[in-house]
Amino acid sequence: MVRKLISMASIFIFISQVAFSQDNRITDIRFWQSPEEAQIVFDLSWTPAVSPVRALEDGTFFFDIENGNFRPGQKNFMLNNSFISQLKVQEIQGAGVRIAFKLPPSVQYKNFLLPKAPQKPDRIVIMLSESQTAQAQRRQDEKLEIAKLKAQNIKIVLIDPGHGGEDPGATHNGIVEKDYVLRMGKLIKSFFDRDPRYKAVLSRSGDYIIPLQRRSQIAEQLGADVFVSVHANYNSKRCVRGTEVYYESPRGAIGEAERQIADQENQQDAIGGVYESINPSANKPSFWKQQASTMFKSRQLAEKMSRRLAYSNPGLPNAGVKRAGFKVLHSVALPSILVELGYTSNNQDAWYLKDQNGQMRLAQGVYLGVRDFLEGRIQEGFDTNYLQYAMNVESAKRAEAERSRRARERRASLLRNSKIYKVKKGETLKTVASKFNVGVSTLSEVNNLGKRKKLKAGEVIRIPSLSAMVIKSGNTNEIGNKVLPEQDFAS
Ligand SMILES: [Zn+2]
Repeated sequence: MVRKLISMASIFIFISQVAFSQDNRITDIRFWQSPEEAQIVFDLSWTPAVSPVRALEDGTFFFDIENGNFRPGQKNFMLNNSFISQLKVQEIQGAGVRIAFKLPPSVQYKNFLLPKAPQKPDRIVIMLSESQTAQAQRRQDEKLEIAKLKAQNIKIVLIDPGHGGEDPGATHNGIVEKDYVLRMGKLIKSFFDRDPRYKAVLSRSGDYIIPLQRRSQIAEQLGADVFVSVHANYNSKRCVRGTEVYYESPRGAIGEAERQIADQENQQDAIGGVYESINPSANKPSFWKQQASTMFKSRQLAEKMSRRLAYSNPGLPNAGVKRAGFKVLHSVALPSILVELGYTSNNQDAWYLKDQNGQMRLAQGVYLGVRDFLEGRIQEGFDTNYLQYAMNVESAKRAEAERSRRARERRASLLRNSKIYKVKKGETLKTVASKFNVGVSTLSEVNNLGKRKKLKAGEVIRIPSLSAMVIKSGNTNEIGNKVLPEQDFAS
């Protein structure tokens, strides 16, 4: 069932800010779980060395983190959920910390290090995922459920609460975006749940991270009719406020077209076992058209959403419809928008976002916006701005390719009968150029000198053939028709 697929996931935070006095210590352990996978994250105060994972006879897996401390000495977490039954963290005197875990049958694990990042310490992650069979079964169930919904003409609305897990999003005025948008996502869903024409599904129903691309993939797999990503905004200018609705920008879309076509081509290469270059522009125009057609609908959804948010929320300014290259909006299959419910960084907006009445109005606005779109007449057409943009980018690319082809050709022809010359003491690019009656820029180009103006004595350079016949009188370094050995030029 779809409901089961995106069903509630619980989170457990075992330890928060465990304080240790020693230098190398585990400062935090977190557990994130989605219906399909779970992560255990260990924050470390040092860059660790980790042993390979080994298994004990009773099926317990373990690995050691060298040179670390774990102040409580030992701690057992009895988790008993579908991904992990037990986690044990134990300090081994003078050696480090041993992490041992017991998994239910068929759960797969992977552990890796995450290096220090801005505002994030060194981390060790254990990824746990359900078995391939369980995944396949899940997809199968999902397909049946979707077929049933489609047969009843029930429309599927994918609500995507932004951020989650390790990524908190904007945090201001007592609002943590990931928590806030999850609450709002559920509230928005409750509006759809009361309307039998719709089936609303949350991309995440707990506190865990979903990769951006995966979010629109979920919508596509579910055959969703619309995708609405829900966010709360932040701006360092605290006066900036209001709701905003985004849909895909031409620049974002063109990047996605390049990526998808490249992926497609790579796949063809891999499947066919050939690595000849296939004309990468073969499917471009039809792909652009698909994108432009979806965007045309996304704009209609965005405009209806913006209008409804404004009507439902007279207390909140409406900053209108905008376009941006958000990764989460890249879907070519269905109209996709991103709603910023307000600015956490603005005091008045934050007050409104936290107010229960405000939340109801915002959720209602989102519901009505989607409803207006799905129940109204959806116009077919193309985002002509995008098509124009795509064509401009393509012709600029072609012109650039042509320019560099000509430059290569010119250089090749100059080199073809060029002569080798050994630079003498005191000579500069300018004097050599004038000696052989050749332009400084041509000489520089043929020798790939870039911005370099100086020549070293003894350096061997090439003199383009154009100048081969024109030798200044009195020059004793006679040049023949073919490449001359450099000693011929030696003084
Ligand atoms: Zn956000």
